[in-house]
Amino acid sequence: MTNPNTNLTRTTDDVVIVGGGLAGLFCALKLAPRPVTVISAAPLGQGASTAWAQGGIAAAVAEGDSAEAHAADTVAVGAGLVDQRVALGLAREAGLRIHDLLHYGVPFDRDLAGKLAVGREAAHSARRIVHVRGDMAGMAIMTALIEAVRRTSSIRAIEGYAAEALLTEEGAVTGLQLRRVGDATAGPVTIASRAMGGISVDWRGRSSIAGLWAGGEVSCTGAHGANRLASNSLLEAVVYAARIAEDIAGHAIATPARPSPKPISQPNRPMPALSETRLRAMMTSHVGVIRDGDHLAEAVRAFADTERKSGHVALRNMATTALLVAASAWARRESRGAHYRTDCPVEKPALAQRTMTTLAAAREIAASLATDAAPRTPQQIIA
Ligand SMILES: Cc1cc2nc3c(=O)[nH]c(=O)nc-3n(C[C@H](O)[C@H](O)[C@H](O)COP(=O)(O)OP(=O)(O)OC[C@H]3O[C@@H](n4cnc5c(N)ncnc54)[C@H](O)[C@@H]3O)c2cc1C
Repeated sequence: MTNPNTNLTRTTDDVVIVGGGLAGLFCALKLAPRPVTVISAAPLGQGASTAWAQGGIAAAVAEGDSAEAHAADTVAVGAGLVDQRVALGLAREAGLRIHDLLHYGVPFDRDLAGKLAVGREAAHSARRIVHVRGDMAGMAIMTALIEAVRRTSSIRAIEGYAAEALLTEEGAVTGLQLRRVGDATAGPVTIASRAMGGISVDWRGRSSIAGLWAGGEVSCTGAHGANRLASNSLLEAVVYAARIAEDIAGHAIATPARPSPKPISQPNRPMPALSETRLRAMMTSHVGVIRDGDHLAEAVRAFADTERKSGHVALRNMATTALLVAASAWARRESRGAHYRTDCPVEKPALAQRTMTTLAAAREIAASLATDAAPRTPQQIIA
């Protein structure tokens, strides 16, 4: 485990959680006493966007407020793309998850009567944001959860290792390829925070791959639509982490007949720092909140090129994620919610639906943009 370039290959019956932020740690705690291994690219407490959250968590816990009102605000902000059932489910479970966090030791602010103190933020129609010491919610939550995790003997944390590849057999996850983070890869491997999309999951957090659940920032549940309502992200992370733990608890996970960790086929050459820097800069300049078709197309071509040519697995994973985001943004020719296209400044009622894509479709868009004078139509994105 000390050689920075050594792949970690082990067999385990544990539930393996990738990510030591709010979603990962909350899920691990909810699964106790079932044995869990948490893989975190950075030491717990570092490199997680949870620690930066300064607002708080939205929960309709005040008198006179309701889950229905919370859900209605969520739907209104999402500009036609929020799944109403998901928003209502999130709002209804918020109180329970706040109590879980209190149980794990999060010191939410209280009023003089001892009730949870709630503030009002952004487009919330009521005071429903719970905080910790004003703007310290994220840091306080992480501190409390890390302490709870360290106290829980069923949870093993492997810190400083990044997951780089999922091993699958017949459409089901059988393993995970890890690599020590340190020399070559600086900082967390996540490419973006507060993306509105992600890995598509159902109400239990199940992805389309058997044995793979996703929750928190990496997932797309339908709760956020085209814009996030303030303080709903931490809420989404805990609600889905709890649902995933419950689903896993009732789920017989088949151990592969011959557990066979496979090495990554290509050697992991040192990451060209400039390429990562350029990729991050391009995400900001070409795929930021204000974008246009030409710059998105340029980004799609560049990310596809990096994805194809890079010999570094982590950089290739970043390029893959960036390609999916840029190709989806290129295909949606309108402005909606938090996304503004200067070449298509108007919201189009016909596009008021959630869209999903696949890597194959994104690569096809990239190929057409590289060769065609007439670019592909948005229909390539699967609605
Ligand atoms: C500045 C800022 C302020 C915010 N404020 C608020 C707020 O006030 N209210 C709100 O509701 N939301 C807020 N958000 C959003 C919220 O913080 C996130 O949605 C939430 O923390 C996501 O939790 P998570 O566990 O999914 O991800 P994270 O907390 O980011 O955790 C991800 C974990 O995965 C690890 N990791 C990443 N890649 C790999 C890999 N390949 N292998 C192994 N480990 C890996 C990281 O090291 C990290 O431990 C804010 C976000 C930011 C950036």
